[in-house]
Amino acid sequence: MIKFEIIRTGEIKQAYSLEVKGDKTVVRYSEKGKEYRYNSDNLRILPTPKDGDSHVIVYSFERKCWHCGKTTEIITYLKFCDDTDDDVTFPWDKSRLLKYQDLSAHLAYPEIEFYGLHVLGDLEKYDKILIRNFPEKIREEYSKTVDEVYPMNVCENCGAKQGRFFVYKTVNEIVKAMQPIKIKKEIDF
Ligand SMILES: [Zn+2]
Repeated sequence: MIKFEIIRTGEIKQAYSLEVKGDKTVVRYSEKGKEYRYNSDNLRILPTPKDGDSHVIVYSFERKCWHCGKTTEIITYLKFCDDTDDDVTFPWDKSRLLKYQDLSAHLAYPEIEFYGLHVLGDLEKYDKILIRNFPEKIREEYSKTVDEVYPMNVCENCGAKQGRFFVYKTVNEIVKAMQPIKIKKEIDF
Protein backbone atom coordinates (compact mmCIF):
# COMPACT_ATOMS: atom_id res chain seq x y z
CA MET A 1 0.00 0.00 0.00
CA ILE A 2 1.09 3.54 -0.73
CA LYS A 3 0.57 6.25 1.83
CA PHE A 4 -0.25 9.75 0.76
CA GLU A 5 -1.42 12.98 2.29
CA ILE A 6 -4.21 15.24 1.07
CA ILE A 7 -2.41 18.50 1.69
CA ARG A 8 -5.52 20.69 2.02
CA THR A 9 -7.02 18.60 4.82
CA GLY A 10 -3.93 16.90 6.23
CA GLU A 11 -5.70 13.58 5.80
CA ILE A 12 -3.44 10.52 5.37
CA LYS A 13 -4.76 7.81 3.05
CA GLN A 14 -3.54 4.49 1.73
CA ALA A 15 -3.77 3.62 -1.93
CA TYR A 16 -3.41 0.33 -3.73
CA SER A 17 -1.89 2.14 -6.70
CA LEU A 18 -1.12 5.72 -7.43
CA GLU A 19 0.16 7.36 -10.56
CA VAL A 20 0.97 11.01 -11.23
CA LYS A 21 -0.20 12.04 -14.68
CA GLY A 22 0.76 15.69 -14.97
CA ASP A 23 -1.50 17.83 -12.82
CA LYS A 24 -3.80 14.90 -12.00
CA THR A 25 -3.00 11.89 -9.89
CA VAL A 26 -4.93 8.67 -10.39
CA VAL A 27 -5.53 6.66 -7.22
CA ARG A 28 -7.10 3.24 -6.77
CA TYR A 29 -7.92 1.92 -3.33
CA SER A 30 -8.08 -1.74 -4.35
CA GLU A 31 -6.83 -3.84 -7.23
CA LYS A 32 -9.99 -3.62 -9.29
CA GLY A 33 -11.35 -0.56 -7.57
CA LYS A 34 -12.60 2.63 -9.14
CA GLU A 35 -10.07 5.25 -10.24
CA TYR A 36 -10.12 8.50 -8.31
CA ARG A 37 -8.50 11.63 -9.67
CA TYR A 38 -6.87 14.20 -7.42
CA ASN A 39 -5.08 17.43 -8.22
CA SER A 40 -1.40 16.53 -7.99
CA ASP A 41 -0.71 19.84 -6.24
CA ASN A 42 -3.00 18.81 -3.39
CA LEU A 43 -1.40 15.46 -2.85
CA ARG A 44 1.90 14.43 -1.35
CA ILE A 45 3.13 10.87 -1.58
CA LEU A 46 4.69 9.78 1.69
CA PRO A 47 7.78 7.67 1.25
CA THR A 48 7.47 4.21 2.75
CA PRO A 49 11.01 2.91 2.83
CA LYS A 50 10.89 -0.80 3.50
CA ASP A 51 13.38 -3.45 4.38
CA GLY A 52 14.04 -5.97 1.72
CA ASP A 53 14.16 -5.62 -1.97
CA SER A 54 10.60 -5.89 -3.23
CA HIS A 55 9.85 -2.20 -3.32
CA VAL A 56 11.02 0.66 -5.46
CA ILE A 57 10.26 4.37 -5.42
CA VAL A 58 10.22 6.01 -8.83
CA TYR A 59 11.37 9.62 -8.71
CA SER A 60 10.67 12.26 -11.32
CA PHE A 61 12.21 15.64 -12.06
CA GLU A 62 12.31 17.98 -15.01
CA ARG A 63 15.44 19.10 -16.78
CA LYS A 64 16.40 20.80 -19.98
CA CYS A 65 17.27 18.35 -22.71
CA TRP A 66 20.92 18.81 -23.69
CA HIS A 67 19.94 18.38 -27.34
CA CYS A 68 16.79 20.44 -28.00
CA GLY A 69 16.85 22.70 -24.91
CA LYS A 70 13.23 21.94 -24.05
CA THR A 71 12.10 20.65 -20.68
CA THR A 72 11.70 16.92 -20.36
CA GLU A 73 10.82 14.59 -17.51
CA ILE A 74 13.56 12.35 -16.13
CA ILE A 75 12.59 9.33 -14.08
CA THR A 76 14.83 7.15 -11.99
CA TYR A 77 15.03 5.11 -8.85
CA LEU A 78 17.50 6.06 -6.12
CA LYS A 79 18.97 3.13 -4.21
CA PHE A 80 21.76 3.18 -1.63
CA CYS A 81 25.06 1.65 -2.76
CA ASP A 82 25.36 -0.41 0.41
CA ASP A 83 23.75 -3.65 -0.79
CA THR A 84 20.60 -3.09 1.25
CA ASP A 85 18.51 -2.15 -1.80
CA ASP A 86 16.99 0.56 0.38
CA ASP A 87 15.41 3.49 -1.41
CA VAL A 88 17.14 6.81 -0.81
CA THR A 89 14.42 9.09 0.57
CA PHE A 90 14.05 12.73 1.51
CA PRO A 91 15.37 14.22 3.77
CA TRP A 92 18.51 12.84 2.19
CA ASP A 93 20.77 10.92 4.57
CA LYS A 94 24.01 12.53 3.46
CA SER A 95 26.22 10.76 5.95
CA ARG A 96 25.03 7.39 4.67
CA LEU A 97 25.40 8.60 1.08
CA LEU A 98 28.94 9.81 1.77
CA LYS A 99 29.94 6.51 3.34
CA TYR A 100 29.97 4.95 -0.11
CA GLN A 101 31.03 8.08 -1.94
CA ASP A 102 33.23 7.55 -4.99
CA LEU A 103 36.04 9.61 -3.51
CA SER A 104 38.53 9.28 -6.37
CA ALA A 105 35.90 10.48 -8.84
CA HIS A 106 35.01 13.34 -6.49
CA LEU A 107 38.66 14.39 -6.25
CA ALA A 108 38.93 14.33 -10.03
CA TYR A 109 35.66 16.29 -10.47
CA PRO A 110 35.16 18.20 -7.21
CA GLU A 111 32.02 19.93 -8.51
CA ILE A 112 30.17 16.61 -8.18
CA GLU A 113 29.80 14.90 -4.79
CA PHE A 114 29.60 11.36 -6.24
CA TYR A 115 27.27 10.18 -3.50
CA GLY A 116 26.90 6.43 -3.00
CA LEU A 117 23.63 6.03 -4.82
CA HIS A 118 22.38 4.02 -7.77
CA VAL A 119 20.27 5.52 -10.54
CA LEU A 120 18.54 4.10 -13.60
CA GLY A 121 21.01 2.00 -15.56
CA ASP A 122 22.93 0.72 -12.53
CA LEU A 123 20.81 -2.15 -11.20
CA GLU A 124 19.36 -4.55 -13.73
CA LYS A 125 16.57 -5.72 -11.44
CA TYR A 126 15.09 -2.25 -10.98
CA ASP A 127 15.92 -1.20 -14.54
CA LYS A 128 13.62 -3.95 -15.80
CA ILE A 129 10.79 -2.83 -13.53
CA LEU A 130 11.05 0.76 -14.75
CA ILE A 131 11.22 -0.29 -18.40
CA ARG A 132 8.10 -2.40 -17.89
CA ASN A 133 6.21 0.39 -16.13
CA PHE A 134 7.33 3.30 -18.32
CA PRO A 135 7.98 1.87 -21.80
CA GLU A 136 7.23 5.23 -23.41
CA LYS A 137 9.84 7.05 -21.31
CA ILE A 138 12.72 4.63 -21.00
CA ARG A 139 14.50 2.79 -23.75
CA GLU A 140 17.54 0.56 -23.95
CA GLU A 141 20.04 2.56 -25.94
CA TYR A 142 23.69 2.34 -26.84
CA SER A 143 26.05 4.67 -25.02
CA LYS A 144 29.26 5.60 -26.76
CA THR A 145 30.74 6.87 -23.49
CA VAL A 146 30.68 3.47 -21.83
CA ASP A 147 30.33 1.31 -24.97
CA GLU A 148 27.29 -0.46 -23.54
CA VAL A 149 23.58 -0.77 -24.06
CA TYR A 150 21.61 0.23 -20.99
CA PRO A 151 18.20 1.73 -20.22
CA MET A 152 17.95 5.50 -20.26
CA ASN A 153 15.41 8.28 -20.38
CA VAL A 154 14.65 9.75 -23.77
CA CYS A 155 13.60 13.36 -24.34
CA GLU A 156 9.84 13.63 -24.75
CA ASN A 157 10.32 16.38 -27.37
CA CYS A 158 13.16 15.21 -29.59
CA GLY A 159 13.90 11.64 -28.46
CA ALA A 160 17.53 12.40 -27.50
CA LYS A 161 19.11 10.03 -24.98
CA GLN A 162 19.51 11.40 -21.46
CA GLY A 163 22.37 9.21 -20.31
CA ARG A 164 23.13 7.81 -16.90
CA PHE A 165 25.83 10.31 -16.03
CA PHE A 166 23.55 13.26 -16.72
CA VAL A 167 20.91 11.78 -14.40
CA TYR A 168 23.46 10.86 -11.73
CA LYS A 169 25.05 14.33 -11.84
CA THR A 170 21.68 16.09 -11.57
CA VAL A 171 20.60 13.92 -8.63
CA ASN A 172 23.90 14.73 -6.90
CA GLU A 173 23.19 18.45 -7.30
CA ILE A 174 19.64 18.14 -5.96
CA VAL A 175 20.73 16.04 -2.98
CA LYS A 176 23.60 18.38 -2.20
CA ALA A 177 21.17 21.33 -2.18
CA MET A 178 18.87 19.28 0.09
CA GLN A 179 15.93 19.73 -2.26
CA PRO A 180 13.18 17.11 -2.43
CA ILE A 181 12.46 15.12 -5.58
CA LYS A 182 8.90 14.35 -6.61
CA ILE A 183 7.77 10.76 -6.19
CA LYS A 184 6.01 9.62 -9.34
CA LYS A 185 5.11 6.11 -8.31
CA GLU A 186 5.89 3.43 -5.77
CA ILE A 187 5.99 -0.12 -7.01
CA ASP A 188 5.72 -3.29 -4.93
CA PHE A 189 6.57 -6.52 -6.68
ZN1 LIG B 1 15.17 17.03 -26.56
